[in-house]
Amino acid sequence: MTAFWTEPDFDDHEMVHVVRDRASGLMAIIAVHSSHLGPGAGGTRFWHYPDPKDGLRDALRLSRGMSYKNAMAGLALGGGKAVILADEARTKTPELLAAFGDAVEGLGGRYVTAEDVGISEADMVAVSKRTQHVSGLPVTGEGSAGGDPGPFTAFGIYLGIKAAVAHKLGTDSMDGVHVAVQGTGSVGGGVARLLAKDGARLTLADIDADGVKALADELGADVVAPDAIMTTPCDVFSPNALGAILDDESIEKLDTKIVAGGANNQLARARHGQAVFERGILYAPDYVINAGGIISVGTEYAARRDGRQASRDEVNALIEKIPARLAQVWQKSDADNTSPDVVADRMAQELIGRA
Ligand code: NAD
Repeated sequence: MTAFWTEPDFDDHEMVHVVRDRASGLMAIIAVHSSHLGPGAGGTRFWHYPDPKDGLRDALRLSRGMSYKNAMAGLALGGGKAVILADEARTKTPELLAAFGDAVEGLGGRYVTAEDVGISEADMVAVSKRTQHVSGLPVTGEGSAGGDPGPFTAFGIYLGIKAAVAHKLGTDSMDGVHVAVQGTGSVGGGVARLLAKDGARLTLADIDADGVKALADELGADVVAPDAIMTTPCDVFSPNALGAILDDESIEKLDTKIVAGGANNQLARARHGQAVFERGILYAPDYVINAGGIISVGTEYAARRDGRQASRDEVNALIEKIPARLAQVWQKSDADNTSPDVVADRMAQELIGRA
């Protein structure tokens, strides 16, 4: 592997740890970008990279993303990410997860792990047998935090959409506000249900035709084909499926006043934030609006470290701060005539002592 500090995604990362365990076949990279606010926290990705360099790039890029996200979420956590370099058959054995748990434990709490792409709750339970520096474990009691972060993420996005409507359209009511939702899975489906209760007009799209029809019938929503949702005339376009959807071509065709949704890395390239801004469309920076899940995971971890269990109310109280943080970003964006994604990055850099 090449020296990580020559990689374009290297951003003064505090630690890049390569783990190899021959017996289990584990090969992993654990990166901590910043521990300014607390231990580097972020999920573990289990993925087959034909070129391991791409795994290193993901660990570098995603751990920096977690520094920004955790800082803007107001958590006492830094940014970290682990990547397990899976073989082509994606062989995941109890021995491999145990070896990974040992590696995390060996870092003495400098890195805290949780689920990400390719890693399930059951996998995290296996990892938790070897290390205490783990979160995203199943809910253990009524009213306790933990478990699937999707509904928490959806709640934060719902609040963020309402804040965007207040900022851009000048109304506190969602009655009749038209929201086009791309992706109606765990996050998008939750957002749609919450908005429907407030009387929003909904248009939904998902590649799962049966699933989206069932949800639309339940909520009295319209359905359009997946390739039509981004050009649907609406007040709010809410992307909750894929990343990199905002590019030169799609931004040109958007027929909305607001883009606010949970998908990670919505801007295909950094410059697309400026392109959305120049079209006069209000953008909710993805890592600020979709922080509900990490707020749940982070609160669960912090409470367990103090020997207690976090409650759902505690988590929701922190999620309820997302709208104020977004409003702060938009106010500064308006005042400085700078796109919200750039404003959010600068705010995050300041919070982690890297202004
Ligand atoms: P999910 O798999 O439950 O739902 C995704 C949905 O998008 C599925 O229903 C899928 O059929 C649909 N989809 C896929 N391609 C599509 C397309 N081209 N057009 C329309 N629909 C399409 O995943 P999720 O947990 O709801 O996550 C959604 C997004 O939010 C992802 O980008 C994820 O990274 C991000 N996110 C999720 C969380 C969380 O807590 N789950 C937290 C932060 C960010």
